[in-house]
Amino acid sequence: MIEINNLTKKYGNHLAVDDISLKIESGQVYGFLGPNGAGKSTTMNILTGYLAPTSGEIKINGYDIYEEPEKAKTCIGYLPEIPPLYVDMTVYEYLKFVCELKTFEKSKIDEEVKRVMALTSITDVQRRIINNLSKGYRQRVGFAQAIIGSPDIVILDEPTVGLDPNQIKEIRDLIKGLSGTHTVILSSHILSEISETCSHVFIINKGKIIANDSISNLSNYFNSHQTLEIVAKGDIDKCKEIIEGINDVTSVTAVTGEEEGTVKITVEANENCDVREDISLALSAERISIFEMKEDTTSLEDVFLELTGEEGDNNDSDI
Ligand code: ADP
Repeated sequence: MIEINNLTKKYGNHLAVDDISLKIESGQVYGFLGPNGAGKSTTMNILTGYLAPTSGEIKINGYDIYEEPEKAKTCIGYLPEIPPLYVDMTVYEYLKFVCELKTFEKSKIDEEVKRVMALTSITDVQRRIINNLSKGYRQRVGFAQAIIGSPDIVILDEPTVGLDPNQIKEIRDLIKGLSGTHTVILSSHILSEISETCSHVFIINKGKIIANDSISNLSNYFNSHQTLEIVAKGDIDKCKEIIEGINDVTSVTAVTGEEEGTVKITVEANENCDVREDISLALSAERISIFEMKEDTTSLEDVFLELTGEEGDNNDSDI
């Protein structure tokens, strides 16, 4: 459906998109996730034909976006980060105008405007001037213009930025409503946005795709090695020796615990192995009591921070 080959974009000497290649199949919701400045908007602007790449090739449903731009663009609806609204028009006038731009047959325009207004729940504000609408309503008008003509592919650049939690939920519900019937590509620097709405994620950092996988694979991959944190009462060397003797344990580190006479042990095991039961039986056979044992799981958030090298403490609320 969409094929991007060796896409590169330079602004002067600055490499904003660095040799990206990817394929997008129909009917799924894809997420472009990356910190600010990663190259998401640049990629989306190139994908939609708004910006020329420095080099590379993009095919939309088989049409090259530069060789057959009109055919390629009819397959795409786009909501840029700043919606392209004419704020002096009423909602109805603006959507009618977009239908005309998209060369809709005159007799079908009213029906199409009513359809997209109903889908985005803006019918009740159709006679209002866009400038007087709240940000949430404006975003829905932007969304409505993107889905005029029911394009196969809907591209949304940071669609919830600046919205309050209720408005964010409304937009996410609209996106979910499109999945199945449309291919949706959504960009965000907010992990929860992508993990809640998308089935597949491309993580972009410094212009490069650094991960390309389903949301579930991505979190499973990092969780496939078991890591345990154990607090036990006993001799440090004895505890280490017992656990090291257990099958599938790959590494053991032990330090003195906070409570007197205790040991804090970190254990790593082979992929897809659960060594909790063997450890507890082996330690109790030597009359060593376990005060605490917990599995250290890697969240998708950790994966994102690890891959992008973000510290995460400067923008916690966003993640
Ligand atoms: P994102 O959407 O992930 O925040 P952008 O695609 O907007 O990232 O930007 C990628 C990089 O390109 C950033 O370093 C940004 O400063 C730079 N950039 C974006 N647009 C321009 C431009 N018109 N001129 C020069 N540099 C730009």
